[in-house]
Amino acid sequence: MTENQQAILNGLAELYPNAGPELQFTNPYETLVATILAAQCTDARVNQVTPAVFRDFPDAKAMAQTTPEILFPYVKSCGFKSKATNIVNACKIIAEKYDGVVPSTLEELTALPGVGRKTANVVLAFSFGVPAIPVDTHVFRVANRLGLSDALTVEETEKQLMALIPREDWSQAHHWMIYHGRRVCHSQKPDCEHCALKPYCKAANQEEMINPKADAKKRAQLRRKKAADPTVSV
Ligand code: SF4
Repeated sequence: MTENQQAILNGLAELYPNAGPELQFTNPYETLVATILAAQCTDARVNQVTPAVFRDFPDAKAMAQTTPEILFPYVKSCGFKSKATNIVNACKIIAEKYDGVVPSTLEELTALPGVGRKTANVVLAFSFGVPAIPVDTHVFRVANRLGLSDALTVEETEKQLMALIPREDWSQAHHWMIYHGRRVCHSQKPDCEHCALKPYCKAANQEEMINPKADAKKRAQLRRKKAADPTVSV
């Protein structure tokens, strides 16, 4: 780890000492349902709908008994009907294959409908205490801009961050970057002038702001050029 990267991690820890999950859940089943609903939706919105969901469907076996058509009106404000379908189908598998207990490995979780690597890592980190760095859009953007990662995909970003950050800080570092992305380093208009990390930030010292998703193709081309000609700067 470079001195700059260490200063960034120290700075994030100082800025967000109480960073934690903003989604509300109390057990692995609730974590799973809330995290599926949170895809492309705000945590605040999810927190508005989950109390009624958890009241009427208190565990995976109860959820497995219902249908997507019955669940959808509860979660409609969180977006697509496919989320209701995935939740019900995932809970049917949990009820039948795991006797209603949410499984606790990445492989088992990612085999469930609607559960990608990020959702599985959230469940592992916050319900089972397994160190993980779930990479969502905020973590992907902030890590790239700060220079903690130069990956082109979320999977690569996760690997790079896990190699860089001490294991005991993985889960907390995930929250630090989410907090920073939501409060300061916004996708379209990062507030660099008021950002305490500006002196160490790679993007703030470049001519163009790093936008990881939009820039991925451009940076992949630059890397290919650099492979062919090491004098090209990436
Ligand atoms: S200086 Fe700007 S780009 Fe860098 S982390 Fe802060 S807000 Fe984001």
